[in-house]
Amino acid sequence: DLFYRQIPKVELHAHLNGSVSFATMEKLIARKPHLNIESSRTAIHSGQRRSLAECFQVFKVIHQLVDSEEDILMVAKAVIEEFAADGVKYLELRSTPREETKTGLSKRRYIETILEAIHQCKQEGVDIDVRFLVAVDRRNGPEVAMETVKLAEDFMLSSDGVVVGLDLSGDPTVGHGKDLLPALQRARNCGLKLALHMCEVPSQKEESELLLDLPPDRIGHGTFLHPEVGGSDSLVDKVRKLNIPLELCLTSNIKGQTVPSYDKHHFQYWYERQHPCVLCTDDKGVFCTDLSQEYHLAASTFGLSQEAVWSLSQQAIHCSFAPEALKQKLEQRWAELRPHTL
Ligand code: 5GP
Repeated sequence: DLFYRQIPKVELHAHLNGSVSFATMEKLIARKPHLNIESSRTAIHSGQRRSLAECFQVFKVIHQLVDSEEDILMVAKAVIEEFAADGVKYLELRSTPREETKTGLSKRRYIETILEAIHQCKQEGVDIDVRFLVAVDRRNGPEVAMETVKLAEDFMLSSDGVVVGLDLSGDPTVGHGKDLLPALQRARNCGLKLALHMCEVPSQKEESELLLDLPPDRIGHGTFLHPEVGGSDSLVDKVRKLNIPLELCLTSNIKGQTVPSYDKHHFQYWYERQHPCVLCTDDKGVFCTDLSQEYHLAASTFGLSQEAVWSLSQQAIHCSFAPEALKQKLEQRWAELRPHTL
């Protein structure tokens, strides 16, 4: 609906390579015909479901298509422009720095290129403020995690405030968070904000207890935190006591089959308890969605009024890692853009 598209929005959970649109994907495929990749392999269309493991296979295909500085600049700019076109006024983009020997890409250059894309969008007047979270893929283990944190630390100091935090993501069935604690602690101590995927699958209770002691500044998914789905009261109590916002991605969880249907999404559990919830896309390209659609789905599934949807988008400002002055600027914009019909 028009309402969801028109209201200003905040996107806090978007993985760069999962956010590449169909149109951009077609361009990448045309650039690399020798890979022989069909666009049907890079997205999960409406009505389709995949296991989480299959979703991670999709990222592998996309990574083959996005492996040079030129590719990264193109996809990052396109993704930022697409979020802006959907009414997102503040975006926190995250991505895992990758080294690609074939194209001579280094992890440092990877991050610099994304920062360049953010800079170019600003220069071109795209109406969106963008910040960046450096992502740690848990699959790569503790040494790479530490190396990534050091890189993130450097960029936090040199990027004029664009790099604000660290993400922990990647296949939740691989590795244990315990081994990554030293890296995450270091990140926290040097002032990087932490946005951690937690309890995305049922088997992560013990790990989540440990991660919550850091504690994280935001939680990605948190699908299996609450006791009704095998989590625990102790996990829920900690999250509530610390008031840690949840990044909730409805379509992603349905298509990745960690949640059986929209009406069973844990948004309901946390929203009812008035816990800070932020609606996000996760991977708008892979899951064929956008933030307006996610707002619309939440509203229609849980019977949210337009006023309630507006509040969700406004509260998201305060769950962001933006500095106080930018939060105030965004508040101001929200006041100007508030529809008269509300
Ligand atoms: P990139 O970091 O390459 O820009 O974006 C893709 C990567 O984000 C994936 O390889 C994976 O590490 C991470 N990612 C994307 N979506 C999800 C998700 O739903 N769950 C988890 N745990 N990781 C994800």
